[in-house]
Amino acid sequence: MLAPYVRVGVQDGRLFLGFGSIQRVFDDPSLWGPLIRLVDYYSVPRTYDEATGFLERECGLSPERAEELLGVLRGGCYLIPAGSYRPEDRYSRPTLFHGLWGADPQEVQERLAGSHVVFLGCGGIGNLMSVALATAGVGRVTLVDADHIEKSNLTRQYLFTETDVGAAKCEILARELRARNSDTEVCTIRRRITNRADLDVLPQADLLVLSADSTGITELVNTHCVTTETAWLNVCYVNDIAVWGPLVIPGQTGCWSCHQLTARDSSGSAELDALISRINRRYQAPSHGSTNMLSSALASLDALKYLGGFGAVQSLGRRVGVWTHQLRLDEQPSTPNPDCPTCGPLRA
Ligand SMILES: [Zn+2]
Repeated sequence: MLAPYVRVGVQDGRLFLGFGSIQRVFDDPSLWGPLIRLVDYYSVPRTYDEATGFLERECGLSPERAEELLGVLRGGCYLIPAGSYRPEDRYSRPTLFHGLWGADPQEVQERLAGSHVVFLGCGGIGNLMSVALATAGVGRVTLVDADHIEKSNLTRQYLFTETDVGAAKCEILARELRARNSDTEVCTIRRRITNRADLDVLPQADLLVLSADSTGITELVNTHCVTTETAWLNVCYVNDIAVWGPLVIPGQTGCWSCHQLTARDSSGSAELDALISRINRRYQAPSHGSTNMLSSALASLDALKYLGGFGAVQSLGRRVGVWTHQLRLDEQPSTPNPDCPTCGPLRA
């Protein structure tokens, strides 16, 4: 039957079927009548033979023309199995979203329920991504952070309130996630990640999200994940640019170290390096709710696509940056490099 996300409209003398990325445009007005009648006919469950008969009998189409029109509807994710959309179900709306890509909604939801995601960092990005994934039905979430909530966090770490100031970030975030989806198992690890041993105590996961920005942690996490064959996703912002990716899937994609993705502190001169180091020690990220939301939103969608098996993961094989002061997109490829010091030996 017809998917509830299908609408029909006319603009500038053209008929639009579907809207969004699934839309198809029909310039030939002779098709409009049969198409609109067919779409309406599918508002209740119909078999293929019933629909063919309807087009031939009620719309006067030849069998070939009827088959052609039905092919449009059946090939464009406009139809869903009868009974698969139940408005009262908790996940009914995202189920429709998954259907836009032709995925089986029940299988997606089962894959999400069977997934475990570890978040390194419960700040702005950790807040937003963990609540997006837990409320979407991810079955298990582990929150890792050693920090306590400060007043200056409240501009972007939206699940914390003024009364939470001074409390452990991971514990308060866990409380908020449990309140929003009691089906998600939430665990906490109050630990600062500074070396390999800190990562070795983490539980096995289907995805590790790096949402912390301490010096050297990206390389540390990459080496850990490549060694333990754990998929991981980097999410951050570079001042005013919202950044996510690459999604690293050891054995399938390039890793963080396959190409130099960020600038280094080393100029080749010891004197200049000392100055660079002194300048960079003063650095404080201009953290803003808007950049946090943007990178978290896009990264959450990729995480759900990867775990749920629907749509196309946009950070696969690339690191993407969305500028927030103008409409501009940057991307850096992260294709596999056979000479990579981290994942190269595993490929050999
Ligand atoms: Zn690599």
